[in-house]
Amino acid sequence: MTVASDQVRQATGRFGEFGGRYVPEALMSALIELEQAWQEARSDAAFGTRLDGLLADVVGRPTPLYLAERFSERAGCRVLLKREDLAHTGAHKINNTLGQVLLATRMGKRRIIAETGAGQHGVATATAAAFFGLPCVVYMGAVDMARQQLNVVRMRMLGAEVVGVEAGSATLKDAINEALRDWVTNVEDTHYVIGSVVGPHPYPALVGDLQAIIGTEARAQVLELEGGLPDEVVACVGGGSNAIGLFRGFYDDDVRLIGVEAAGEGLDKRHGASITAGTQGVLHGALSLVLQDDEGLITHPHSISAGLDYPGVGPEHAWLASTGRAIYESATDEEAVKAFRVLAATEGIVPALEPAHALAHVLRDGAGKGLVLVGLSGRGDKDVAAVAESLAL
Ligand SMILES: *Cc1c(COP(=O)(O)O)cnc(C)c1O
Repeated sequence: MTVASDQVRQATGRFGEFGGRYVPEALMSALIELEQAWQEARSDAAFGTRLDGLLADVVGRPTPLYLAERFSERAGCRVLLKREDLAHTGAHKINNTLGQVLLATRMGKRRIIAETGAGQHGVATATAAAFFGLPCVVYMGAVDMARQQLNVVRMRMLGAEVVGVEAGSATLKDAINEALRDWVTNVEDTHYVIGSVVGPHPYPALVGDLQAIIGTEARAQVLELEGGLPDEVVACVGGGSNAIGLFRGFYDDDVRLIGVEAAGEGLDKRHGASITAGTQGVLHGALSLVLQDDEGLITHPHSISAGLDYPGVGPEHAWLASTGRAIYESATDEEAVKAFRVLAATEGIVPALEPAHALAHVLRDGAGKGLVLVGLSGRGDKDVAAVAESLAL
């Protein structure tokens, strides 16, 4: 499946019927230029060597695979954690931003732009741009800037310019619109770093390729540590990049793949579960599964974790769901907070609230499941205040 899907996806930008390139004409040439540049770079050994070196020296890869013994007792199965929380800047997002900015330098681009919701992708992009000495502009909704003041300060310290967006609801989708407007105007010298496996082709394929290091490492590590493959691989799904990165390592194996979406306040209330509860639609340039009303208007998602608070999902997930190769579950805000506390208390690891959804699934359904590998996509320093508030601590 991997080989065939790889050929299909690289040639057409489709994952089954999902994906594609639904964008204004003005962006087509930039997307084609990026697609060609990535095709060349991914088969260039020198580029691969340079990227591997950066992942080792800047990000600190390989990240450990860790047997969580006391958490396993609570879950009723043997739980291995892939520790992306130990990557530089505290999450998997840096794998993508560093790779894309390296690609941008190869394309001769002199300026980096990005959008950000809670600020995590903005910080990872600003970090990569600073490393290469390139100017960086991050678009962020004004409402999000007020909510995530610390990340705004972090980005500015890293030398990035943070531009507040007042339009619309002044949140992520408005920031994406502004970033696209900038890109159309400055496409000659500017690269737009998208933060997940979403957007028009080639972004879903490109970001998936850059995050696949997670699954490649994890597969080799689990074979070495346990002498066999896991029964189940579990990861949280926002846009879907950490899950695709981990899943890709196991597509051809007899291993259950489980993505966990944000059920928020409950699936009958406000949530972020685009696969579990969404329908087909076009969002941000790709056909996928989205949260929309009867008129096709995108509905306002909700999750206690900012990274899962997105009304769509990458097309590769829509395809994995439609073929049945991966199964999608969800966990509520309350379950995620509980799992967050269990991991902190049993292992001394404070996880981000996003992967706490994957942990919640394992606590709920893990009993008797054998060997379960969980993607721990990031650390939870950023979420301590939100958890404290939700518990009235
Ligand atoms: C942004 C983020 C996510 C969600 O993004 P994906 O593209 O779905 O991986 C998950 N975990 C952490 C720690 C994040 O920062």
